Amino acid sequence: MNRNLSQSASLRVDLHTHTTASDGALSPAELYALQREAGNDLFAITDHDTLDGYDSLAASLADDGPRLVPGIEFSTVWRKREIHIVGLGFDPADDSIRALVAAQYHRRIDRARRIGERFDYLGIKGAYEGAMALADGGIPGRPHFARFLINGGRVGDMDTAFRRYLADGKPAACRTDWPGVEEVAGCVKQGGGVAVLAHPAAYELTRTKLRELLADFSAAGGGAIEVAVPGVNPDQQAHFARLGCEFGLKGSAGSDFHDPGQFWRHPGRVPALPEGIDPVWQYWV
Ligand code: MN
Ligand code: MN
Ligand code: MN
Repeated sequence: MNRNLSQSASLRVDLHTHTTASDGALSPAELYALQREAGNDLFAITDHDTLDGYDSLAASLADDGPRLVPGIEFSTVWRKREIHIVGLGFDPADDSIRALVAAQYHRRIDRARRIGERFDYLGIKGAYEGAMALADGGIPGRPHFARFLINGGRVGDMDTAFRRYLADGKPAACRTDWPGVEEVAGCVKQGGGVAVLAHPAAYELTRTKLRELLADFSAAGGGAIEVAVPGVNPDQQAHFARLGCEFGLKGSAGSDFHDPGQFWRHPGRVPALPEGIDPVWQYWV
């Protein structure tokens, strides 16, 4: 059963996943069962701006299953664009990490309040309270507001909720003052972890802009780039691996799992890391 953990390149890993602590469909324990079933050796829960899912699972792990690496996905900003930074392998008790998580919590609650006020203004009452109840102790995000609209019969589905109200530029969309890429990358490094540029293909950056982002990210202490991600073809993966090497970064791999219904981003479908870039997980095996 036990694979040789020293063969880090051949390990099966999934270093980007979500649970019900943010916008995932499975509880941390259910995600763990899925990771086990997928045959992964090492995984991380990287919920959006919260450690709640990680904390609850870390306290109750079986010895013989996949290993859990501390993780989180921070929302950050770089030149007015929202950029996601995955933090991995930090000290979960680190004060600066916990302070950043608390600051993100307040930013998200504040945004939820402002979205609620927009709905109020639009004549849709009780949206904040409704989304709060649907978030079930977590922070209400746009999907919770969408669910509130669906449950109230105001729209038929998520897509329509976003298209009419919640997508950027729509009447209930609110911007958040996320911290800069540099601040977050520095904080993760300070906390003993590795900052990973998440899903580099998702930002629709030109090649020049992506290089500028990587230069800033690596200068601020960023340590890795997601290379092996579902939905990114092998040529693109090789491109990201070359770029990573050029900027002194390790390569990471993860499904960005949210929901078992999305079969294309599943813990069992994380591509292997291409040759030529060191795996970021070499730090934890
Ligand atoms: Mn998400
Ligand atoms: Mn993301
Ligand atoms: Mn994610």
